[in-house]
Amino acid sequence: MIPFFGNVIGGTTRPGVDGARLTSVDPVTGEPWAEAADSGAADVDDACAAAVEAFRGWRRTTPRDRMDALLAAADLLAAHADELAALEVRDTGKPRLVVDTDEIPPTLDHVRFFAGAARMLEGRAVGEYEEGLTSGVRREPVGVCGAITPWNYPFMMAAWKWAPAIAAGNTMVLKPSELTPASTVRTAELLAGVLPPGVLNVVCGGPRAGAALAAHPSVAQVSLTGSIRAGRAVAAAAADRLARTHLELGGNAPAVVFADADLVAAAEGIAAGAYLNAGQDCTAAARVLVHREVAPAFVAALVAAAEQTVAGGPELPDAAHGPLISAEHLARVEGLLDRLPARAAVVTGGKRLPRPGWFLPGTVVVGVEQQDEIVQTEIFGPVVTVQVFGAEDEALTLANGVDHGLTASVWTTDHARAMRFLRDLDFGAVSVNTHAPMAAEMPHGGFGSSGYGKDLGSYGLEDYTRLKHVAQAF
Ligand code: NAD
Repeated sequence: MIPFFGNVIGGTTRPGVDGARLTSVDPVTGEPWAEAADSGAADVDDACAAAVEAFRGWRRTTPRDRMDALLAAADLLAAHADELAALEVRDTGKPRLVVDTDEIPPTLDHVRFFAGAARMLEGRAVGEYEEGLTSGVRREPVGVCGAITPWNYPFMMAAWKWAPAIAAGNTMVLKPSELTPASTVRTAELLAGVLPPGVLNVVCGGPRAGAALAAHPSVAQVSLTGSIRAGRAVAAAAADRLARTHLELGGNAPAVVFADADLVAAAEGIAAGAYLNAGQDCTAAARVLVHREVAPAFVAALVAAAEQTVAGGPELPDAAHGPLISAEHLARVEGLLDRLPARAAVVTGGKRLPRPGWFLPGTVVVGVEQQDEIVQTEIFGPVVTVQVFGAEDEALTLANGVDHGLTASVWTTDHARAMRFLRDLDFGAVSVNTHAPMAAEMPHGGFGSSGYGKDLGSYGLEDYTRLKHVAQAF
């Protein structure tokens, strides 16, 4: 018997209405390890009805009530951290140490951040703008929020949705990725102990359930973290009834290295940012742009850093990253490598590890050009491409020359140049001499095809609110 993860609706766990099931596969072994409900429109209807009912009471709670509930939620999740980490490891194949250190503790911190931030929400203006009339601005919850999350950080991405939504007084129906439902279902089961029934509902399933959620008439706002393709589908479904959308989509981050940078620090920082989670990260430093003068030295340092980034399963407790999420996804990344133009070369990595599961080691590709498929596509694997530039303007044009606009970094010791790049890079998060730092206060979200809206930070919380002008005649 393998475990089964059902839907959590109105505080209780149940199978899908039509009994359909999905299989969850362990990426380390390639073997099925669990099943989950494969929900459809009827399950989404039930979950939305529970969320509508719960919203009647939750919208009237005080910020302090919501802070207390979220702090209790964080404490409860912390008390079950072992169990949650074990589920995450089975669903994603990540090294346990990485989940224990880099994923569960920051996620709990993000929940606690939103608990406190709930008490800082405010409308801005209060005054008399017409004689005999006092105005105010109320910041209110939006209503029932739908959330759809990806497989790369299931526990964390779910919390980035439910914590701000609940902090702001909304209720939620959340659909995790069909590949990784376990930790999200368990989170909702645990939170049923500290939240009123129906405040957080989880419906498992794939695009069928996601599409039903995005199109549901009770859902006032849909927040998706996922691919550009899913973003377009969700925005189109929501457009019909003009529901709000909040889209955290793919990335294709440049890392621009100037000749005056500390090359070893840059190579190590970029490798860390690129191979994190086997590159299955929307902020992954996928496109290195390096000044011609230092390109050979930099590539040598990057290859060394890539080769020190060990991929492995549970037999290697200090592995930096695990396998790719699925056979299909590994084949997709290998396809990008197979179709490289003849002028390009793989200087390290590039071949799957001869073992069960879907492991690809840290890979570096040189000789690519801007219009190449591998440069223009989000790879979402442990692969870094290297392009060479001469002038600063050329670097900027290459960096900005993709549809995505999520994250970028620039590596230089020239302060004025750093400031010019912070201004001119068209990405939602830009950093100097580090790649994609993350903390609860830092808003995370993209420009262009990477979507709109922010996760995290006070801006992330405001995205789950609406403003109402109120006026009182006297
Ligand atoms: P995906 O788009 O395939 O799936 C994401 C979620 O959307 C899943 O729950 C899926 O079931 C659902 N979905 C798919 N099609 C849908 C549809 N037509 N209607 C409604 N729901 C639908 O993405 P993925 O492969 O799970 O995740 C990887 C992608 O997520 C990458 O592009 C990555 O960059 C992006 N991502 C972005 C961020 C960010 O913060 N911007 C963070 C993590 C991942």
